[in-house]
Amino acid sequence: MNVADSQAMAQALAPDYVLTSRAEDADLFLINTCAIRRKSEEKVKSLLGSLRGLKKTRPRLLIGVGGCVAQQERERLLAAAPHLDLVFGPRSLRRLPELVARAQRGERPVDVELIPGLPEAPCIHQPGRAQALVTIMQGCDNFCAFCVVPYVRGREESREPGAILREVAAFLAGGGLEVTLLGQNVNSYGRGLAEPITFPQLLRRVAALPGLTRLRFATSHPRDLSPELIALFGEMPALCQHLHLPVQSGANRILAAMNRGYTREQYLDRVAALRSACPDIALTTDLIVGFPGETEADFQETLSLMGEAAFDAAFSFKYSPRPQTRAASLPDQVPEAVKAARLARLQALQAELTLRSNARLVGQVSEVLVEGASRRSPRELSGRLRTNQVVNFPGPPELVGRLATVALTEAHPHSLKGRWLEAHSTWPLVA
Ligand code: SAM
Ligand code: SF4
Repeated sequence: MNVADSQAMAQALAPDYVLTSRAEDADLFLINTCAIRRKSEEKVKSLLGSLRGLKKTRPRLLIGVGGCVAQQERERLLAAAPHLDLVFGPRSLRRLPELVARAQRGERPVDVELIPGLPEAPCIHQPGRAQALVTIMQGCDNFCAFCVVPYVRGREESREPGAILREVAAFLAGGGLEVTLLGQNVNSYGRGLAEPITFPQLLRRVAALPGLTRLRFATSHPRDLSPELIALFGEMPALCQHLHLPVQSGANRILAAMNRGYTREQYLDRVAALRSACPDIALTTDLIVGFPGETEADFQETLSLMGEAAFDAAFSFKYSPRPQTRAASLPDQVPEAVKAARLARLQALQAELTLRSNARLVGQVSEVLVEGASRRSPRELSGRLRTNQVVNFPGPPELVGRLATVALTEAHPHSLKGRWLEAHSTWPLVA
């Protein structure tokens, strides 16, 4: 979602400002921020500090902080950083040109209004791009006890289906292949819209657009995952066989304290239903260790759920107390050393599960959407399977942004290695 917001910022400021990868060339620095955990908040402050020197040598340079830390810290950021020129929250993106203009005039604007209404975005996707992130809703009304999102992104609001369909259709007309629909809880899409529509209905309408090869979405709240949506994984050819379904904990006591609205058993029932609708589906999750009051026995429940669900990958975090949230004031905060030890044990287990899941794919021939050069070796390309695993393989740079047929040859902890089967390729090499 932050990547999508950064793209929207660049779009809002074009053509007056264009993106540059060289800091020395920049006339405007915008730091997009995340307030989910304290660590990301600290990174923002240290990055801001490191820009102080640059501003001294180039006084006309403008520096802004946007996103959720900006929403939360507001004027405190301006007071702490005299070289900061503007502060704007995640719902102020459409007012960015006006805010930058005010900063150019020497004002130090702060815009953190959580004004309702999603604008009809112009198509923000550049021609030739294969992948698009499409925001379908903003905000969140779930108030999980640990989470700051409802406070910094405001109330949940769905975007009109017509606007979403127009955006996706324009992207596909420009040669796009893969669309990821974004929201904090896409399963509640449609609530409050004039035209009644559910998320599965939206998926059907998007999947019917000509040219769509891969459809993904994030994030899905387990409580609201309907049988209708589960069934789509077995029925809709464009829908990728991957679901990110954050469980957070395997202990019912902790799930209740987190206000998640489902039990361990209900979660595992949904996993079983997903695997029965689509046996090849890859399941990934988010896990938090050290939520207040979490005992060793609770933590063991999380480890056992991970084994039962056999997650293909997981994002895992030490619980981080966040301002305004209910959990921050709970008694029995878990000591940092205990959180760190639990996180290490959990990550060791997930590494085994991921390696096992990657190893099962070795020997298969699969479709990879090539995203760019591999991070490890610039001579290799990197892309994703429909099931979302990363595959690295040697191949020509012309493959970037295209589908390639690849034989999977080796499993690694975070990726697979493959061999490009040139003769079997499913795409035209020359556009
Ligand atoms: N809306 C998504 C959902 O409900 O599944 C999650 C969005 S949240 C931005 C992404 C992940 O950050 C969460 O699933 C949770 O695991 C983690 N997270 C959120 N608040 C946290 C906190 N206070 N400490 C540690 N991790 C946190
Ligand atoms: Fe945060 Fe819960 Fe909303 Fe996800 S559903 S954004 S974890 S409050």
